Amino acid sequence: MTGLVEQLASIVGALNVSAGAAIAPDDTHDEALTGHPATPLAVVRPACTAEVSRILAVADECRVPVVARGSGTGLSGASRPVPDGIVVAFDRMNRILEIDTANHAAVVEPGVTLTQLDEALQPSGLVYAVYPGEMGGSLGGNVATNAGGMRAVRYGVTRHNVLGLELVLPGGQVLQSGGKYVKSSSGYDLTQLVIGSEGTLALVTGVTVKLVPRMAHTATLLAPFDTLEAVAGAVGPVLASGATPLILEYLDALAMEGITRAAGLDLGVPATVRSGATAYLVLVLEGSDPGRVDADAEAAASLVATLGALDVYILPPAAGGALVTARERAFFVSRAAGADDIVDTVVPRGALPAYLARTATLAAEHGALVSGCGHVGDGNVHLSVFLADPHRRRAFLRAVFEAARDAGGAVSGEHGIGVDKREYFLDLEDPAKVALMRRIKAAFDPHDILGPGRIFSGGAGSGDAGTSEGASSGDGTHSGPEAVTR
Ligand SMILES: Cc1cc2nc3c(=O)[nH]c(=O)nc-3n(C[C@H](O)[C@H](O)[C@H](O)COP(=O)(O)OP(=O)(O)OC[C@H]3O[C@@H](n4cnc5c(N)ncnc54)[C@H](O)[C@@H]3O)c2cc1C
Repeated sequence: MTGLVEQLASIVGALNVSAGAAIAPDDTHDEALTGHPATPLAVVRPACTAEVSRILAVADECRVPVVARGSGTGLSGASRPVPDGIVVAFDRMNRILEIDTANHAAVVEPGVTLTQLDEALQPSGLVYAVYPGEMGGSLGGNVATNAGGMRAVRYGVTRHNVLGLELVLPGGQVLQSGGKYVKSSSGYDLTQLVIGSEGTLALVTGVTVKLVPRMAHTATLLAPFDTLEAVAGAVGPVLASGATPLILEYLDALAMEGITRAAGLDLGVPATVRSGATAYLVLVLEGSDPGRVDADAEAAASLVATLGALDVYILPPAAGGALVTARERAFFVSRAAGADDIVDTVVPRGALPAYLARTATLAAEHGALVSGCGHVGDGNVHLSVFLADPHRRRAFLRAVFEAARDAGGAVSGEHGIGVDKREYFLDLEDPAKVALMRRIKAAFDPHDILGPGRIFSGGAGSGDAGTSEGASSGDGTHSGPEAVTR
């Protein structure tokens, strides 16, 4: 162990390796509500690709597990350390290398945060369009989780907005995939393979992102509905109308009450309407011409009024912005209220009404209180789950994930499988697909050192190699019922 720390210090400098009591508590967990912090052997902070390459050469040689860390804002335990492994933290690799206005692209190091990139892009009139609710997340973390967010309905998720990657493989080999072009038909697309791989295939040391024009004007519509099914049912017609929303979200009444109260926000919805509302649709339009945006908002409001809304409000610009900001804080509001878990299932848009009805039925059957919101424009449903008993919660979550799968969707729409959703993913996913994913993993990482226990069970240092899927979390904690007791 001392030898390993010395080797790492010889690569990055002693000040950039911490071990034992010197490891900061922040480096021992992410933002997931489940699981326990874990202290690794060492946290190492490289400054450049060459250092990452040397770190991975040492780790591969010594078969030491490696967990990558961006900003630690993930919600699935994926950047939680492995006790007998090292964490490679990317916060020192935070340079914006290039803003290329001719090619509408930017090249950044993986530790650059979304806020940092957004500020740097302001003068160019361009924007990186992926806006997950947490702008402190790093580009490397966004790539590894295929981060989505509210604007995915308009611009897609990370995989639609990343053009190329610089990758370091276990053993230290450095590869470039993709580049400042939109299309390539030249062999397998390694960029897309690594996006969403949760740090299990390669470490990302460079990201080339697509930029789009930054629109100056927005308009925000708020529409209360009397049922969840009605709000979900409005999504298809709104999108079919050609309205091209920047944001299309739903919040159930509990979620709306929580975020507006936390933000001290009065949206002007009369108490008589609020009392009859079970859920709300939030629709944001954007454009470069304010008159055109306002006209589109009026047209969208007329349409939504015909889709069963109790009323439709076009919010003043400040209130619209404040509502979106409040919605971004929904996770923290749920956490403060004592939520036991947050799930982020996804289903086809057309399946949303039935899926939301099904989750309500399941909640009643399992005695769970759930509060929901989500990016309904792309079928993403976030449920805050309040059910203290870990055994009952586990059964409820499994049923919710199974219902998503049966509706043609998936366990995670954007936060990833990580450690905490692994047992459900492995239980519900097609075993043939999981086996193929494992073969891909083995091709990138033959000694299984990268992100052990994330997505799959087993792996170096996971403590569960060769055991049945889902038996243990692989980070020294357990993903079974006892693990979710906090
Ligand atoms: C309030 C809040 C709201 C959120 N809203 C959304 C949302 O709307 N949509 C959404 O998709 N997510 C959302 N998230 C989740 C989170 O912000 C994203 O998952 C984000 O992409 C994680 O980035 P990070 O830098 O914090 O990654 P981390 O948490 O540090 O790591 C996440 C994963 O990426 C891997 N990783 C990190 N850097 C690298 C690298 N350089 N190379 C290889 N692997 C790497 C880690 O090993 C881990 O597997 C939200 C989180 C919070 C707290």
